[in-house]
Amino acid sequence: MRRILLNDITLRDGEQSPGVNFFPEEKLEIARQLVNMNVPIIEAGFAVASESDFQGVNRIAMELGSPDGPTICSMARAHKRDIECAYEALRPAAKPRIQVVLATSDLHLEYKLNLTREQVIDLTRETVAFARSLVEDVEFAAEDATRSDLDFLCSVFTVAGESGARTLEIPDTVGYSIPTEYASIVKTVLAKVAGVKDMVVSTHCHDDLGLATANTLAGLAAGAGQAECTINGIGERAGNASMEEVVMALKTRPTQFGVQADINTKAILETSKLVEALSRMRVAPNKAIVGENAFKHESGIHQHGMLCNSETYQIIEPETVGARKFDLMLGKLSGKHALRTKIMELSLDIGPQDFDKVYLSFKDLSAKKKMIVDDDIVNLVNRIVG
Ligand code: MN
Repeated sequence: MRRILLNDITLRDGEQSPGVNFFPEEKLEIARQLVNMNVPIIEAGFAVASESDFQGVNRIAMELGSPDGPTICSMARAHKRDIECAYEALRPAAKPRIQVVLATSDLHLEYKLNLTREQVIDLTRETVAFARSLVEDVEFAAEDATRSDLDFLCSVFTVAGESGARTLEIPDTVGYSIPTEYASIVKTVLAKVAGVKDMVVSTHCHDDLGLATANTLAGLAAGAGQAECTINGIGERAGNASMEEVVMALKTRPTQFGVQADINTKAILETSKLVEALSRMRVAPNKAIVGENAFKHESGIHQHGMLCNSETYQIIEPETVGARKFDLMLGKLSGKHALRTKIMELSLDIGPQDFDKVYLSFKDLSAKKKMIVDDDIVNLVNRIVG
């Protein structure tokens, strides 16, 4: 099994979610939780963006950037001042990483940067070499890589590598790619970029088409050695690849990908809840892995199966991600097995004849009420038995 790295970018790309602003002490709190999860790389922010961003990166570098702690990263545009600022913020970290970002698509070159391809090559060489003169660990990100000319992308990556970049990131900045295409871009980069064998290729996928996790997994299976993800999938627009989805897909179906990530999955739910609270972005109930309903079963057919053997309808043990064991939700689709189990769980004493009466009242109530809670069952039983 090939080991892959995860770069958690919740504090940088995640913070770019509309309406999200993490204060430095909140960033530190989230970063501590990421350390509990054993995340090897934490992208702590974009140091030059504001004083608060600088402080966020700096405090994480100071408090968590020990030699046996994670790599701490700051983003920088391909400007000297950005890179110097990232370096200053990262100074206390034992393992600092500067990520230099420069767009490579003709669309961005023409309308945003007003640069020719030759100028992009020169700027890549200068800025990556400058970052490398300050720190050992430099990541180069080719913004809008998936809409860039592939030969040009490989030329830029070759120059970045020659100038000292150790990680080459392929951002699907606008969430435009699909799994087969993203995998083929990764394979082309691995085949064509000079010296790539000594570097790590990284995924960075957005969810505009709902494919961020799928693209990330396709990239990893195709040979990428690092994935950039956010907790709860927060990020610009529709967000980024979700850390919990990528990690649990790798853990649940290891042979399909041939890679492993050493993440403490038991800390996933706690981390998700912290990010949900501090970002004020509610996790949808049906969100994979961390949604409130992710391990709930309501239909009678499923509940019966779950009570016989949880593998019938469950592919992940809830405890694996720090969630409570199988939660029996009673509703209009629940049957006798579930009701009997719930009555036992609640330690209510009831004979077989009374049970049939309770069952009928339960069916009656569940047709009228949106959600049945434990107290409803206690009341039903007391009314019939008492
Ligand atoms: Mn992004």
